Amino acid sequence: MHLIGELSAVLATALFIFALYWMNDPKTARRGVIAGVTGMTVAVLATWIQPEIVHHGWIVAAIAAGFLVGVPLSQVPLTAVPQRTALSHAFGGLAAGLVGTAEYFLWLGENSAQLTPFRMSALVIEVILGFLTFTGSLMAAGKLQEVKWIPQRPVTYPGQNLVNLAVLALVLHPHAAWGGQAFIAIGALALVFGVLLIIPIGGADMPTVISILNAYAGLAAVAMGFVLNSKLLVTAGALDGSSGLILSIIMCRAMNRSFTNVLFGAFGKAQPAALKGEQKEWKQETVEGAAQLLEQARNVVIIPGYGMAVAQAQHKVRELYDQLKKRGINAKFAIHPVAGRMPGHMNVLLAEADIPYTDLVEMDEINAEMPQVDVALVVGANDVVNPAARYDKGSPIYGMPIIDADRARTVFAIKRSKNPGFAGIDNELYFSDKTFMLFGDAKAVVGELVKQLAGSSGMH
Ligand code: NAP
Repeated sequence: MHLIGELSAVLATALFIFALYWMNDPKTARRGVIAGVTGMTVAVLATWIQPEIVHHGWIVAAIAAGFLVGVPLSQVPLTAVPQRTALSHAFGGLAAGLVGTAEYFLWLGENSAQLTPFRMSALVIEVILGFLTFTGSLMAAGKLQEVKWIPQRPVTYPGQNLVNLAVLALVLHPHAAWGGQAFIAIGALALVFGVLLIIPIGGADMPTVISILNAYAGLAAVAMGFVLNSKLLVTAGALDGSSGLILSIIMCRAMNRSFTNVLFGAFGKAQPAALKGEQKEWKQETVEGAAQLLEQARNVVIIPGYGMAVAQAQHKVRELYDQLKKRGINAKFAIHPVAGRMPGHMNVLLAEADIPYTDLVEMDEINAEMPQVDVALVVGANDVVNPAARYDKGSPIYGMPIIDADRARTVFAIKRSKNPGFAGIDNELYFSDKTFMLFGDAKAVVGELVKQLAGSSGMH
């Protein structure tokens, strides 16, 4: 039985590693999901057959509770996936915190000599990371969901980082002789710390923070693995923790921000209004005019952004792509690594609309072609095409790599208003000579463009 347990742990670990590897590519991503689910099933079955497990009813109850929460969670719209993910981390953190607390009191009750310094350290790390991930992730999910009583804007006050550090210092003092009350105090402080950590961060930075919390949840699982003496938990937690960390690093790089800037920088604070007196002219184009120019183009690049996700315009965009392709126009998509609100956001939406992966081109590759592009069609993107990122040192997005829409011959930009995007700043691309705005909801405007093109196709 023991051997089967060990073998299952190896098998499940291998499946988790393959799951992550396959998820790197849209072509194998589904296989990755199946591998992950199979790995988890193997892990549950291996636990089921452990000789120490006498009351299998608890496992059945846990599976039932998991389904009860998991099924509704799986049905949220794609735009709500970041907060959905935060909720999953919250549950993971809570589980780690509760298991750690239970183990501590079990050992304390049975024989406190079992609380060796090593175990005590693992327990305290597990409980701190678990509980702070729990409240931190709930706050993050609340901010993203725009829950009324949670402020979206960063809440800062003088000495905030000092207060946070002081709470952290209070928490970080493991000692076996402290007894149960001190242990409970550690858990409670960790819960408070989770809230304090997230309050100063603006709602817009939450996807990156959620990814950092993912890393914490993974580390909590590693500590839990040491506490429960489970190798599988240690490896699965390490995979979870490191992938969360790598993802946060990728996101920070793509936004040209540092970890400390995300965690302590209060990005997304209300920006001062644009300079008064400066005349900015937004030129508009009609759908008919835009359709005509698109028909005459040889190379068209579509640049999707968060607005395409909000409008759920991906299927209409696919129809537009089909119309262009039908005319022999070379149409491609420019994919910015942080377009939208989560990594891979655009890839997922465009894959949902069955757009061939071969026409989804990464930023660096497409930028080389932009000067030869006749029309760049910006669909609900803003910051990721803002040229100020290249030179304006005072801009919050300075240094962020962008898609060079401004280097195309003509730019059409679809958005609903003159409002800024995520970074809260104006975009000079929209006042440029070569840019023409198509104001309106992305789904409606792209739908109109498709209608125009479909209507005129008989004439060619
Ligand atoms: P963005 O800068 O937020 O701009 C999106 C634009 O879409 C807005 O200007 C908005 O203008 C427009 N829009 C919203 N709803 C629309 C609708 N229904 N129809 C048409 N347009 C609509 O988005 P982005 O260019 O994709 O850039 C992403 C930003 O998010 C970057 O600053 C990035 O750093 C940040 N971010 C991304 C991630 C990630 O992982 N992807 C994570 C954290 C932060 P109107 O209101 O006028 O319509």
